[in-house]
Amino acid sequence: MQLSHRITGINAGGSDGWGLFYRARQLKAQGHDITELTIGEHDIRTDPLILNHMHQSALDGATGYALIPGIPALRDAVAKRVQDQTGVPTSAANVLITAGGQAALYATHHAVCNPGDRALYIDPGYATYPGTIRANGAVPVPVPARPEDGFQPDASAIAALAKGAKSLLINSPNNPTGVIYSRDTLQGIARVVQDNDLWLISDEVYDTQIWEGEHLSPRALPGMADRTLVIGSMSKSHAMTGSRLGWIIAPEQAITHLINLATNTNYGVPGYIQDAALFALTLGADFEAQIAAPFRRRRAIALDLLAGQNAVRAVRAVPPQGAMYMMLDIRATGLDGNSFAERLLDEHQIAVMPGESFGPAAAGHIRVAMTIPDDPFRAALQTVLDFANSLVVTVE
Ligand code: PMP
Repeated sequence: MQLSHRITGINAGGSDGWGLFYRARQLKAQGHDITELTIGEHDIRTDPLILNHMHQSALDGATGYALIPGIPALRDAVAKRVQDQTGVPTSAANVLITAGGQAALYATHHAVCNPGDRALYIDPGYATYPGTIRANGAVPVPVPARPEDGFQPDASAIAALAKGAKSLLINSPNNPTGVIYSRDTLQGIARVVQDNDLWLISDEVYDTQIWEGEHLSPRALPGMADRTLVIGSMSKSHAMTGSRLGWIIAPEQAITHLINLATNTNYGVPGYIQDAALFALTLGADFEAQIAAPFRRRRAIALDLLAGQNAVRAVRAVPPQGAMYMMLDIRATGLDGNSFAERLLDEHQIAVMPGESFGPAAAGHIRVAMTIPDDPFRAALQTVLDFANSLVVTVE
């Protein structure tokens, strides 16, 4: 029996980019002691305060079908949060609660792309982006952001591919590079999007992890609120990855249709999870800073180690301005990201993601997730630097 092209084509016959991660997990299952710096998951669990609230909400009866667009109090709270942060008038009618940012990525592309439409995204980008677009029957078109530009997307590179396209997906603070798009970059993007009548899908799931500079939501730029769909999530901001709670902020008319999609797919998000998310949002900015603090600390540790390298400087960091990752340029070793990561795993039992997993623009790089406690993180990163250095010395 034949399955649809839409589903068999999700990975376009290639890899989903997670090969090294799966191999590391397999080695671990076989009993090897592997240090994992791969996945974007906190090393702390969801706070017991939030879990107690979730538990009590379930005991109080929130275990039936919840309202499909989201419970009104949570839609209101998300709208207020977005309005307070951006100044853009936002009400519950602009909010759809989704099963995490990932479901929001799928739904937003579903909302704006017809089958066969070209959907642009920035390369390097989060590994699910092309698959999410293909799952919708649209055609993913990567727009390279170059390491020489510090991985800031270039408006003219977007414009060169924008003709006839339907949407552009951007992500700042960025996974995998840790780069925050500057006001200039975002203004350039807004211009291209308006000139070419594109929808902008802005993935802002890392908006509480800002180490340097400021996060600007492009929905707040002139003329953008009507054509921007923003994706948010509690996963990273509140260490609630497993709760699967995110949202879409969009023009009211788009939300009306997105509710129809939600009705015919997930049929809403569990009520006790929504209650817990609503409670978590009341914990405020201090709590969010506390969740982000370990990454801020480890970024400082990493910058220290990188600065302390010998004159060869085998590894160069892309300036990590936000998010829980560091992108390291290992081109001086003569290896590509894949070979470097494979050898690091085999020879030092440390798993990092090859830059290539996130698109060809990140070739010759590795992504290090800052997701293990400080001391082992310091030790593992030192090993990565020593390994890179030994390769340069060997080459010379
Ligand atoms: N966008 C980006 C850039 C991500 O890195 C992730 C998860 N790693 C997501 C979206 C999806 O996150 P979630 O579904 O947990 O909200």
